[in-house]
Amino acid sequence: MKDHYGRKIDYLRISVTDRCNLRCIYCMSPEGVKPIKHREILSYEEIIRIAAIAVSLGVKKIRITGGEPLARKNITYLISSLNNIKGLEDISLTTNGVLLEKYADEIAQAGLRRVNVSLDSLRADKYAKITRGGDIDNVLRGIDKAERAGLIPVKINMVAIRGFNDDEIEDFAKMTLEKSYQVRFIEFMPLGARDLWSPEKYIPINEIKSIAEKIGPLTPVRLRKSGPARYFRFEGASGVVGFINAISHQFCTECNRLRLTADGKLRPCLFSETEIDLKNPLRSGAPDSEIERLIKLAIEVKPEGHNLNCTKEFNALRPMSKIGG
Ligand code: SAM
Ligand code: SF4
Repeated sequence: MKDHYGRKIDYLRISVTDRCNLRCIYCMSPEGVKPIKHREILSYEEIIRIAAIAVSLGVKKIRITGGEPLARKNITYLISSLNNIKGLEDISLTTNGVLLEKYADEIAQAGLRRVNVSLDSLRADKYAKITRGGDIDNVLRGIDKAERAGLIPVKINMVAIRGFNDDEIEDFAKMTLEKSYQVRFIEFMPLGARDLWSPEKYIPINEIKSIAEKIGPLTPVRLRKSGPARYFRFEGASGVVGFINAISHQFCTECNRLRLTADGKLRPCLFSETEIDLKNPLRSGAPDSEIERLIKLAIEVKPEGHNLNCTKEFNALRPMSKIGG
C-alpha cells in the first residue's frame, strides 16, 4: 500500500482503550479524559477483523496502545489472536509499565515481540508527581521482567519537558552505558493537558541531544526498524539512545502508519483531525470489501505532513490517550 507521496504504509497502531491507570500531567487532567462509552469501544473481535483486513492489504506491523493497553481486560487474548494473522510480522505494545511485571510473561508467550515503556523521571518523587501518584518501583520491576521475558530490546520513552525533567536527560542517556535498552527522547507535543504545554516548556530535539552529549560523543547507529527515531551509541555502551523529532524536523516523509482509535476511527495522521469511521460500517454488516475500501481511503487522504510547530497551540486535537500514542 503506497500513498500519494510514495510512502509505503505497513504499520497500524491500535488503541484498545482510552482509559488509563495513571494521569500523567502532560497527557490528562487530574480527573482524566471523559471516557468513551463502553459500547462505543471496539470489541476484540472487531479489532481482529480490521487488523486481518489491514494485513491482507499490506500491513506488516501492529503496535497496541491506548490509554493504557495492559489495563484492558484479557489483552493477552487480543495479542494471541493478532499473532494468528498470517502475514503479520511484528506485534509490539506501548505501556506505562505499571502492570508489566504482572503480564510480561503471558504477553510474550502470546506472541508479543517488544514493549515500549513510558518513563519520564527516574526519581520516585518526581515520577509520582508526573504521573499523579504512580509508583516507579512497579515500572522498574516491569522493565526488568519484560527483559527476562524476552521482550527485547526494551524501549524506554522519555518526554522531555523544560523546567520539569530536563535535568534528568543525562541520567536517562547514562542508562544505556550498562543496559541494552533503547532510551528514546521525545519532544513535548501540544496535545493532551493543554494548560501544561507552552512554547517555553518545549525542548527541540537538537537541544535534548546536546544535553545527552555531555556524557560523551555519540556515534550514529543504523537499526533495521528505526521508525521515526534516530539512534546513537556512546562508546562501549550496551544500549542506544534515540531521538524522535515529532515537531522540530518532522518525521512525516518517513511516516508509514495509520492509527485506529479505541472507538473505531482510522486516523491517517496523528496531528490531523481527519478520521474515517470503521465502527458503524462494521456494526451494520459491511463486507470485508467495504472495510478494505475505507482503509484504502484513509491512505489516500493521508496528508504529506503536518504544520504543527512549537509556537502554536492545537486545541481541537484529541489527547494522545484518545488517539493512541
Ligand atoms: N499509556 C501508555 C503509555 O503511557 O506508554 C500508552 C499510551 S500514551 C498516550 C503513548 C505515549 O504518548 C507515551 O509515551 C506518552 O509519553 C506520549 N505522550 C502523551 N502525551 C504526550 C505529549 N503531549 N507530548 C509527547 N508525548 C506524549
Ligand atoms: Fe496514561 Fe500513557 Fe497518558 Fe500517562 S501518557 S496518562 S500512562 S495514557
